[in-house]
Amino acid sequence: MGKIFDIQRISVHDGPGIRTTVFLKGCPLRCKWCHNPEGLNGRIQLKYLDEKCILCQWCKMVCGNKVHTFGENTHLIDFSACIACGKCVAECPSTALELVGEEISPSKLVSQVCEDKVFFGQEGGLTLSGGEPMLQPEFVYEIFCEAKKAGLHTCLDTSGYAKWEKYERVLPVTDCFLYDVKAYSADIHRRATGVDNQIIKGNLRKLCRYEKPVYIRTPVVNGYNATLDEMQKIADFLKGLPIVGITLMPYHTLGQSKYCMLGIKKYEGILTAPAEEEMEQYKKLFTERGIQVI
Ligand code: SF4
Ligand code: SF4
Repeated sequence: MGKIFDIQRISVHDGPGIRTTVFLKGCPLRCKWCHNPEGLNGRIQLKYLDEKCILCQWCKMVCGNKVHTFGENTHLIDFSACIACGKCVAECPSTALELVGEEISPSKLVSQVCEDKVFFGQEGGLTLSGGEPMLQPEFVYEIFCEAKKAGLHTCLDTSGYAKWEKYERVLPVTDCFLYDVKAYSADIHRRATGVDNQIIKGNLRKLCRYEKPVYIRTPVVNGYNATLDEMQKIADFLKGLPIVGITLMPYHTLGQSKYCMLGIKKYEGILTAPAEEEMEQYKKLFTERGIQVI
């Protein structure tokens, strides 16, 4: 069994072809720009949709943990006291409350994914993303074993921040990798994500020794990695590696509203994307080094 928080069907940006992407819970990184905050915490969580709440106070009556309190026209939630028992979710008459995340078995998950098989064609298949899937390596391994039995192409979307042994474990059942390189410089990486990138760079070098396609993904964010100097360093690092190519993804604001719904404090600084001309300059740095920009 493992924990997931979403299944996205007909996905065309999560690996080759048309895919079904399953998002696993839990992540050791804290990227300032994270647009999937449901994936940060490994536990099942309460989500509150303020615009749906009719202030009936049913949730307050059924919750034994004093999570819900009410003022005049206000509904306050102490997310830290919630044990995700789901009682208030079941009682809420206006679906203002939800639980984010579910425990599921690999076989049940893969049988759900197999319902989409008709869309996959020659190239498509199943992608595991997150969060960071490698926080649940045995779950990943078992899902991919089931997927291979069902004839599915398997792709792992990872930050690279996990012990190498975990990648070794899943390698035999993983057909390709989406691998994040968020910065080359350790200080920029630490400032942007909260963790060092030594292990990420090391794992990528090791992964590239295997004959599995590796697609690099790099979010591009002003104030962090969006400089010619940093992009050049990333390009020089990747130049010698047999990767398929790189996708440069300018920062976007999707997902920001979810922080409030989950009671998670989001980064308060202003994040922006580079201008189009700058993105073109960055892309050129990679193509000049023989790296395909996808
Ligand atoms: S999920 Fe359970 S613990 Fe959490 S707020 Fe609702 S009733 Fe209370
Ligand atoms: S039960 Fe639902 S609608 Fe009623 S106060 Fe709680 S969240 Fe709002």
